[in-house]
Amino acid sequence: MSTVTGYTSADVLASGEAQVRLHDRAAALRDAGFGRQVFVRGVVEPSNFCRENCSYCGMRRDNRTLARYRASADSLAEMLIHHRPKSMTDVNIQTGEDPRSVEEVVLPLLRALRRETNLGLSVCLGTLSNDVYRELKNAGASIYIIKFEVANPEDYRKFSSPGTLSERLDHIRILADEGWNVSSGFIAGLPGQDASSIAENLNLAGSLPLSGCSVSPFVPGDETPLAAESLSGLDQTLNAMALMRLMRPDWVIPAVSALNMAGPGEGYRRGLRTGANLCTINLTPDADRENYLLYRRDRFIMNEERILGAISAEGLSVSESSLADHFAAKRAREAGVAVA
Ligand code: SF4
Repeated sequence: MSTVTGYTSADVLASGEAQVRLHDRAAALRDAGFGRQVFVRGVVEPSNFCRENCSYCGMRRDNRTLARYRASADSLAEMLIHHRPKSMTDVNIQTGEDPRSVEEVVLPLLRALRRETNLGLSVCLGTLSNDVYRELKNAGASIYIIKFEVANPEDYRKFSSPGTLSERLDHIRILADEGWNVSSGFIAGLPGQDASSIAENLNLAGSLPLSGCSVSPFVPGDETPLAAESLSGLDQTLNAMALMRLMRPDWVIPAVSALNMAGPGEGYRRGLRTGANLCTINLTPDADRENYLLYRRDRFIMNEERILGAISAEGLSVSESSLADHFAAKRAREAGVAVA
């Protein structure tokens, strides 16, 4: 195994007993740092409009067949304030890159949730202006999810990822400098990429000022230029998750729902066995969910029952602390401030 600051394709390709050891080490590090506990958050997706055109995503602006929607802040607030699953401590508000929905839906929703609940508030809204980042923070959000998706600058261009890679990385650094807890993420196994590309993604992630990072298997998206490509393998995704845990034992690393597609039956639970410590309940109303086309219309929806079943089956428990409180306490510890 290479050092944790410079992974190579050999690390990503671990198989057999070496792979078992890798995953066990990663899970043990999660257990040592987080006490066999997993954070549970909900996600809502209030807009599927997007001004970007990523080749791997069905919400790309060139997809004219998609029914676009913006949800009402009031109806999402009503659901999240009065009818949310009991196990969730945080909510992530995620949209396509749609500044209008930030003004019309996301900001009022954040303010209502900050006023009425103690939920930790995360947002995943793409690259926005510094003023809008500040408004979001003033409205109560403290975690910003902004994925770089592809570490190789040429591939980043080839897949039409948002803006340029260097701009995306600049925004990650700006957000971290402004006091956000920033989580990023990448896709493992895009067409034409190999294990060395995954190592490159890991090494880039390790160089950034992050609090967490996700690894998603590539799922060929309906209504995208990559629709006819093959689904990426589960093993390299799981190995990347485990290597990430070794590299950053303190990061929050989600088990993403796409693991269910890359590994039907056991994929998601195997994610928890590689040291993941965050599960996400999808709360987007049924009427809109089919059009939030991250990859396929037949998304495997993780409801509370499935999430709690997977956590319990792996002998893990649900964290009582929210992600937001966890990060706040960590910052206070690092600054040497006593936490009540
Ligand atoms: S990945 Fe995000 S930015 Fe890219 S097209 Fe999809 S929603 Fe838009």
